[in-house]
Amino acid sequence: MTPTDSGARPPNAEPKGACVILPAARLGALLALLRDDGFAVHGPAARDGTIALVPMDDAAALPHGWTVEQAPGVSRLRRRDDAAVFGFTHGAESWKKLLHPARARLWSAERGADGFVVREDGAPVEPLALLGVRACDLRAISVQDKAFLNGPHVDAVYAGRRAGAFVVAVDCGEPAGTCFCHSMGSGPAADRGYDLAFTELDAGTAATHRFGVRVGGARGRAVGARLALVPAGDADIAAAGGVAAVARTKMGRTMDPAAARAVLASKRESAHWQDVAQRCLTCGNCTMVCPTCFCTTVEDTSDLAGDIAERWRLWDSCFTFGFSHTVGGPVREQAGARYRHWISHKLSTWHEQFGESGCVGCGRCIAWCPVGIDITAEIAALRTEGVA
Ligand code: SF4
Ligand code: SF4
Repeated sequence: MTPTDSGARPPNAEPKGACVILPAARLGALLALLRDDGFAVHGPAARDGTIALVPMDDAAALPHGWTVEQAPGVSRLRRRDDAAVFGFTHGAESWKKLLHPARARLWSAERGADGFVVREDGAPVEPLALLGVRACDLRAISVQDKAFLNGPHVDAVYAGRRAGAFVVAVDCGEPAGTCFCHSMGSGPAADRGYDLAFTELDAGTAATHRFGVRVGGARGRAVGARLALVPAGDADIAAAGGVAAVARTKMGRTMDPAAARAVLASKRESAHWQDVAQRCLTCGNCTMVCPTCFCTTVEDTSDLAGDIAERWRLWDSCFTFGFSHTVGGPVREQAGARYRHWISHKLSTWHEQFGESGCVGCGRCIAWCPVGIDITAEIAALRTEGVA
């Protein structure tokens, strides 16, 4: 990995590559084809008042005609006035829940006639197909790839789930007010890391509703060939190109990643951390919903007879006391210290570790913070602190 000095990612690229058309009514054919190829398909659905990522066999389960309104501490499903399938940003869940699950059994041991037999848990039986991955979440997956695959220790759980995963990306046409992926160089168009990338077009009527499709490699090309995609006309290409351009103008927030990195490095003793401590509940929601946060803890369990033992890995959060517990107690007792640690790692020291920001600008931590703490506002406050 190569640390960068500027703190900025290269800007998100324009959608590129030959565009072909998939009529929206044929989305079910894509699902069937992926299922036939042995993939466990997961995609977005409107569930429990939000967008959830669920196992998906039928395109009817996709959130046709739904959108999501988001603001600090607020996320609400709303009806759209068309039948767009991907006319929303995202809910609390990210693809991390599939690639880096919240609970993973690492191994189990069972007493047999000849002593304990130890079994390591392997990859899921079926490879994953991820349907509807946004550009910000694509970038989040590449950020987690660096943590789990590209370092000296490859994580077997992540590697087993990531290997062979088929990715269908969707350009974002409807950013939420909490989104700032464009300023973080992570969106709104999918520019790498996909097998197929869709741009949803003209969802007003069934006759016009279609997807511009870009192919990301041999696997995507093979699937596309079996879907009988039709060539795009000039109007299709122009319309597809315009979606990301409009989306950029709809984002409710911005952040300068280089400035965020610099201000966090220089404001470790700022009085602003006390201000955050007055508001932060240290609930850890921001770390749970963040698609790049990867910290875990382990738990060992055994049955009462002592015949079966298991080791589980669980998501952890730098907001818990236990996270920084050393001899004598937690290192970061105060809420302000824990928030400072989280935001400093995410936006500043992540650069030294992984060569880029740990934030992709998805806005989840803003919408799902119960008291509406806004990572972009905290950076803005630190930057203006002491400026007359
Ligand atoms: S910033 Fe918000 S979501 Fe994160 S720990 Fe504090 S209160 Fe919870
Ligand atoms: S820090 Fe917040 S905005 Fe950035 S990637 Fe994580 S959840 Fe998204």
